[in-house]
Amino acid sequence: MDAGAVPAWLDEHDVRWVRTESVSLDGFLIGKHLSPNKFAKGLPLGNAITELVLGYDIGGTPYLAWWDDWRRDALGDFHQRPDLSTLVMVPDRPHTAAVLCDLVGVDGEELPVCPRSLLRRVVGRLGDQGFTAQAAFEIEGMIFAESVIDARRKHFKGLTPLSLPTGLGYLHQNSREQLAFLDEALARCEALGIFVEGWHDEAAPGQFEINLDPTDPITACDHVVRTKQVLREVAAEQGHIVTFAAKPTDAYGNGLHVHHSLRQDGEPVFYAPDGTMSQTTRHWIGGLMATMPGATSLLCPTINSYRRMIGWAAAPTVASWAEDNKSTALRVLSRSPGAARIEDRVAAADANPYLVLAAVLGGGLAGLEKAIDPPPPLAVAGWGLPAGWPHLPNTITRAADALANDALLHAQLGDAFCDYWVNTRRWEWLMYHTTGGEPVATGVTQWELDRYFEVV
Ligand code: GLU
Ligand code: MG
Repeated sequence: MDAGAVPAWLDEHDVRWVRTESVSLDGFLIGKHLSPNKFAKGLPLGNAITELVLGYDIGGTPYLAWWDDWRRDALGDFHQRPDLSTLVMVPDRPHTAAVLCDLVGVDGEELPVCPRSLLRRVVGRLGDQGFTAQAAFEIEGMIFAESVIDARRKHFKGLTPLSLPTGLGYLHQNSREQLAFLDEALARCEALGIFVEGWHDEAAPGQFEINLDPTDPITACDHVVRTKQVLREVAAEQGHIVTFAAKPTDAYGNGLHVHHSLRQDGEPVFYAPDGTMSQTTRHWIGGLMATMPGATSLLCPTINSYRRMIGWAAAPTVASWAEDNKSTALRVLSRSPGAARIEDRVAAADANPYLVLAAVLGGGLAGLEKAIDPPPPLAVAGWGLPAGWPHLPNTITRAADALANDALLHAQLGDAFCDYWVNTRRWEWLMYHTTGGEPVATGVTQWELDRYFEVV
């Protein structure tokens, strides 16, 4: 739809409010409710919103310890530039429309740190080289019987999972308990144009997994942030609480695995029926492996993300790849022409999907550009391996250091973005150590539950 057609569309749908939806660095859906008149008048640049939306941490403390060129000296505004291809009616709220927006500067200039435009730049470069990508996320979350208010009163501890309290997965007895929640949520997703391949009960108590349909990279991420919003709304309406914290309990954690495939001249690049990978696939995997430690900072963004990365918990712990091995970081599935793809299993559910895909596709692209050969595939299970194996960074600061030193990702994502992001991760570490976190804890702490349980 072009901007000129918007007033008639709003009229035709009897719209009273337009919900503008941008994505913060932490992956939060942020914006305003605007009258149709205000929304239409602001096009194409979009409404103003405080630049703090890219300038404060998860706890609401402004980043004041460093600055970058794109940040203004005074506290001013950015704009939410609507992507009109995403304008939809919100199914459960009469007279309300929603639209996803990029964050841009006051004159419409691109911001180096807007996650949605960052991913678009990476996808654009992939297109310049003759490739198209598709992606599909697996959203894991946990649903508990308590209401939001009761969960807060209990400080997010000892909650009652909507399932058996044991670590069994795929159990229809458990999916039956989650049915009312997921039926309603997935019906709303469908009305928003978000389709899923399936869902199931996952291994931790109260855990579910939703497998979104593959689509283009930006839309795949749009679907993740909108689906999480729907899941939160439905849980709250039904008197429950849902979380996407990476490790909200001592059981299995929540991942955000992402599958991606590549086509060149219409042909599936990763397809290798006899097991012989093309040079392009080898270099792509080489790039993903070379950038994996640095990318971990983006895929595992919080203190809590690293609690998930322990052996035998279905999350990877060593930088590794192999054909169909779920204990590796990259699981390559090359045998079917229609479904040849690579699953990256590193990301935690608390990650920002746009940054996840920007790092993954940027890593692959770096491999093509530099003709990087991959290390040999991992022939064993990737857990419980001794120290000599190339372990993934296992703290927020180690991962930030890896990204700070990663020239390939700097070239793909831009210095301004990488430098700013690394600062935000070091800041997160500082917050943990100065505002009540437990420096020597090895398990989930109260500080993490308070900071992440409800918002990530
Ligand atoms: N929950 C696991 C994780 O945190 C993934 C389980 C699976 O789907 O294999 O990555
Ligand atoms: Mg799973």
